Amino acid sequence: MIRAMRPVVIAANWKMHTTPADAGELARTIASRTRVPGVTRVICPPFVCLAAVRDALAEAAPDVAVGAQDVHHELAGAYTGDISAPMLAGLASWVIVGHSERRRDHAETDERIGKKLARAVEGGLRPILCVGEQLADREAGRAVEVVDTQLRGDLGAHDPELLAEAGLVIAYEPVWAIGTGRNALGSDAAAMAETIRAVLGMIGWTEPGLVPVLYGGSVTAANIGEFLAEPAIDGALVGGASLKPDEMAGIVGRAGVTAAARLAAIA
Ligand code: PEP
Repeated sequence: MIRAMRPVVIAANWKMHTTPADAGELARTIASRTRVPGVTRVICPPFVCLAAVRDALAEAAPDVAVGAQDVHHELAGAYTGDISAPMLAGLASWVIVGHSERRRDHAETDERIGKKLARAVEGGLRPILCVGEQLADREAGRAVEVVDTQLRGDLGAHDPELLAEAGLVIAYEPVWAIGTGRNALGSDAAAMAETIRAVLGMIGWTEPGLVPVLYGGSVTAANIGEFLAEPAIDGALVGGASLKPDEMAGIVGRAGVTAAARLAAIA
């Protein structure tokens, strides 16, 4: 019953692709190809494309949410080139925090990611927190330990109730699967999703079973079924394939099957 109450979410991470000139059209096309009941759709374009995507979706598909790919850990200040939560007001309602590419390229620590989460929630943004291990960690049997450490570092300082109210979504993204064409096994992703909820329980969450956990890492229309067949997985954070309307149509279409099945299970 609790499982069936979690939303099915497909979030598109466009990374450093698209421009203000072409992002709106792509968003409109994807939105029109993914009209599937029961699936929460989110498009996260680059900062400079947020307004174009917002405007394109406002009339064509107001139910498709717009998200940012990052947010600064302070509200304002001498941080050249950065974007704060107040700046995103009216542009985005979701935000990705702690993506492995930012952990890698911007040396983001769990402490800093925790602060970003705080700013996101204060700014009324719904956060997607990314966690995941490196290949060496998985091969050494340390995947659970790494994700456990990330979760405690990212979330430990927060009031679980505030984050739950903000609708926190967690994306399990094994780093070795991102942009590589190499996937985790559906069963491994599901096991990690259960681990994530178990850790939330250990750090004071009263209803960790209600937290949506997505899988991310080279998701395509061809392999999404393996992940959504797992009841512990509630959708996907999609990178490369999210720029291709055909792929998104297939991914969201498959997500719609899961959403309908969950609805039927509680009817
Ligand atoms: C991502 O950007 O979060 C991601 C999972 O990328 P890709 O789907 O390209 O692996």
